Amino acid sequence: MSVETQASSAADPIAAPLPAKRSLAGLDRTALADALAAIGVPASELRMRVSQLWHWIYFRGARDFSEMTSVSKTLRKTLDENYTLARPEVVVEQVSGDGTRKWLLRVAAEHAGERPHEIETVYIPEADRGTLCVSSQIGCTLTCTFCHTGTQRLVRNLSAAEIAGQVLVARDRLGEWPEAARPDDAILPDGARAISNIVFMGMGEPLYNFDNVKTAIDTIADGEGLSIGKRRITVSTSGVVPVIEPLGREAGTMLAVSLHAVRDALRDELVPLNKKYPIAELLEACRNYPGVSNAKRITFEYVMLKGVNDTPADAKALVKLLKGIPAKINLIPFNPWPGTKYECSDWDAIERFSEIVFSAGYASPVRTPRGRDILAACGQLKSETQKLSARERMALRAMAMTD
Ligand code: SAH
Ligand code: SF4
Repeated sequence: MSVETQASSAADPIAAPLPAKRSLAGLDRTALADALAAIGVPASELRMRVSQLWHWIYFRGARDFSEMTSVSKTLRKTLDENYTLARPEVVVEQVSGDGTRKWLLRVAAEHAGERPHEIETVYIPEADRGTLCVSSQIGCTLTCTFCHTGTQRLVRNLSAAEIAGQVLVARDRLGEWPEAARPDDAILPDGARAISNIVFMGMGEPLYNFDNVKTAIDTIADGEGLSIGKRRITVSTSGVVPVIEPLGREAGTMLAVSLHAVRDALRDELVPLNKKYPIAELLEACRNYPGVSNAKRITFEYVMLKGVNDTPADAKALVKLLKGIPAKINLIPFNPWPGTKYECSDWDAIERFSEIVFSAGYASPVRTPRGRDILAACGQLKSETQKLSARERMALRAMAMTD
């Protein structure tokens, strides 16, 4: 037994070892070119080599350099000696009765001494689409009072590769590569691609990690690889006003805004970032969102909190507030988590609210909570699991009937 090993692990028992070799999986084209240059690929060949790797990593889903038969044997060997194609490691996979899957993923340490971190990625199949909900940060610096993630200390931003890596993991597990087999137990959309849509609604505030989110979006949307079009990618923000215009101009995705309240006093409490960027400024940024039109509407998310923001007067004020903005409204039944002070609105309050919104011309506004039995619904992304209470089961059933 080595005393030295014991001593160093006792001094820092929770530090994760740095991976011996860096992974290329999830890297964008520029980072791939840098990685190739670093192992001696001549500048004149970089473009061609990057294209080859791109095809194998993002179109075929290669997990080993030996699969890359169009790449010379010598280069494959050098690649293997220096790099891997490792994805974030799947620690737990949970499959809900409705087909929702949640993966607890461990991301590799970025620097020596960093503790291992876990993030969550959720897959939600529906009849005509399959949506992957990805995380952009480990934890969140914002402290929205109804959000479970907000109770976690921010650990760090995810890298662009770790964000795109979540899509690779999901494709691996759903068997969505040209020669892969789909898992027998999977509930998948009929006819559509298994993962047709991406939403940045997991852990973290994507607009506080904009550069990496943007790079990851370019990788995910690239037509020679994963090919999930930007109109099928939605970035959800709690309202980081100065980054909304750059998101539209530089990333060109769909926008979702977590509104949740129609008055500043209440929104200050629910979404404390409102004190910095109040409702009027937020809505002005939405009006000016590049590309916004009736065909490219902004989604406004509104979590239904019992006795807090769920009266008919709130619904009427919401409709009035959004007048003139091409909008969709998503009413989200609050997903309770251990220790929260909020409750989900009663079903009839949600119905009344949704009626008012519906009469104002917004179609099917209630978002059915999915995967509650594995705690995978919005804002519940934390690693522990919990059994559903009888009350939640009833609420879930009632809501499922509105699908
Ligand atoms: N930080 C970003 C994206 C992640 S949160 C944002 O806030 O928009 C994704 C969505 O889930 C947001 O609309 C958020 O307000 C909502 N949400 C958070 N906690 C929730 C909960 N417990 N129940 C229902 N929705 C919740
Ligand atoms: Fe962060 Fe979004 Fe949760 Fe607010 S709702 S704490 S911004 S993840």
